[in-house]
Amino acid sequence: MKKPRLKFQTPTGMRDILPEEEAYYERVYSIADQYADFYGFKKIETPILEDYELFVKSTGPTTDIVEKQMYLLKTKGGEYLALRPEFTPSLARSYFENGMVAWPHPVKLYTRGPLFRYERPQAGRYRQFHQINFETFGSKKPIAEVEIIWLFVKILEKLGIKNIVVEINSIGDSQCRPYYKKVLTRYLKRNETALCATCRKRLKRNPLRVLDCKEVRCQKIVKQGPQIVDYLCEECHDHFEKVLEYLEALGIPYILNPYLVRGLDYYTKTVFEIIPQKDQETRQSALVGGGRYDGLLKLIGKQDIPACGGAGGVERIIDFLKEENISVKRKESTPEIFIAQLGDEAKIESLKLIEEFQKAKIPVTFQLSRDSLTNQLKIANRKKVKYVIIIGKEEVLKKAPILRNMETGDQKSVPRNRLIKEVKNALKKEKRTRLK
Ligand code: AMP
Repeated sequence: MKKPRLKFQTPTGMRDILPEEEAYYERVYSIADQYADFYGFKKIETPILEDYELFVKSTGPTTDIVEKQMYLLKTKGGEYLALRPEFTPSLARSYFENGMVAWPHPVKLYTRGPLFRYERPQAGRYRQFHQINFETFGSKKPIAEVEIIWLFVKILEKLGIKNIVVEINSIGDSQCRPYYKKVLTRYLKRNETALCATCRKRLKRNPLRVLDCKEVRCQKIVKQGPQIVDYLCEECHDHFEKVLEYLEALGIPYILNPYLVRGLDYYTKTVFEIIPQKDQETRQSALVGGGRYDGLLKLIGKQDIPACGGAGGVERIIDFLKEENISVKRKESTPEIFIAQLGDEAKIESLKLIEEFQKAKIPVTFQLSRDSLTNQLKIANRKKVKYVIIIGKEEVLKKAPILRNMETGDQKSVPRNRLIKEVKNALKKEKRTRLK
């Protein structure tokens, strides 16, 4: 039966993250945090809204993101702001704005959080999604992008993901790419009628994008056309060779994909994606994407700073974990004590007791909005706690709550000031017998 439509629902392409799903997010984030720290990437956070022009300038006016996917808003003060569609421009802006130019280089930054793109929602493609993102500012060296690829491979491995492959390409730089673009455009023009409608448009504005079109008819043409690797200048060629050498030294499996260009205007030299092996044919579900973008920072802050980075799609990683039946265990404290109360004075006493247990780092559970003792004991049973502390009016007066062992049914009065100690000892004893 179709669910009736509620008056208020999440916007198209956006989702609530419910507790079960949160466990996956926590797992991905905690491993990313740990590895970022180990590899020396400093965590920062930037606003979700940025000046719209920042993305037009850096992401590039001919990209899908800027042309079609930005959430743009005009504030009451008349400013044009955009919900960030990607992290790199924000981090580059922050680098200049916060004087990181004067920090020891390279400056290695890590961030994570939600991004927004007005795309057609489908499996693995949302309008609000999350990324873990790494950037290195101030290094020209090929090892800088290899370090980022390595870090992602390590994070995915730690999550239990094995069957992945790094697809890699070099798209040259301002020295060699213009000539290749010319050669490619000439070739594509000769075959224009066979291209899809989008690629016919791309041919005019951004011919490189034709290379990674998913349409079979376009792929057929592209496969017989000129490849950029044959047109790289000496510097780009040597740089790429070094990248591959490092990947080999690290034992990271990679595949050269001469048609990988990625969707953004700012890439130079290396571009890469990390893809599940089984999805290599369709190439719909890259878990990670990134590359080098030596010309980008100059567009934002005027200083010419080489840079590279990569972003992992948290939802894509989680979907893959689920597909592969990789479960995540939530680090939840499972309380072994239930505090049951009867009457208003007892409720107040329980509040104090709960705080004392929290300070003593002993997880407890309770249902303060329940008044019936039978009901509370039923809940305690369902939660399979080892002990219940019962406090009624009398126990408050006598300053001696009842401690009940739920397995044996034994119970006794414990002086209030000895309660925490008594519970600690009981739990310790319990643990010892369990281990025997
Ligand atoms: P990009 O920022 O486009 O380089 O993408 C980097 C990674 O982010 C991709 O490999 C995906 O894993 C993820 N990603 C990009 N766009 C979306 C989206 N609309 N929904 C979910 N994940 C996305």
